[in-house]
Amino acid sequence: MSDLHALYQEVILDHCKRPHNFRPMPDSNRTAQGYNPLCGDKVTLFVKLDGDRIFDVSFQGSGCAISTASASLLTETVKGKTLAEVESIFAGFHDLVTGKAKTDGKGPALGKLAVFSGVSEFPVRVKCATLVWHTLRSALQGGEAVATTE
Ligand code: ZN
Repeated sequence: MSDLHALYQEVILDHCKRPHNFRPMPDSNRTAQGYNPLCGDKVTLFVKLDGDRIFDVSFQGSGCAISTASASLLTETVKGKTLAEVESIFAGFHDLVTGKAKTDGKGPALGKLAVFSGVSEFPVRVKCATLVWHTLRSALQGGEAVATTE
């Protein structure tokens, strides 16, 4: 394992132990639930949307280290972003975890999300990492249905 991977591992475990924005949001105006049956990850996402910008976002749920860390980093990443920006980040993130993009600085600026680049080596983990993103998309589309990774 390279030093970079070890560092990434550390960031993921840290977010798993102390997830950011892990709280309910009683005054959210968008919410959705996500479920990854493959791993048993469950997430509920709360969004406060102001026009086409995400004013605040939080989550609750239970799942593996990857899904929890991904949700934690998602909340940090998308807060203050517009819907179009979120779509573009999701596309870049999806390419990253499915191995279609490399984090050599030439791809889209994913910031801390780059820690998930190692996930592309473990296809079964891709759904853990992307669950919360599918859930966010479902929340933003105003869907009541439960988002699943299937
Ligand atoms: Zn998982």
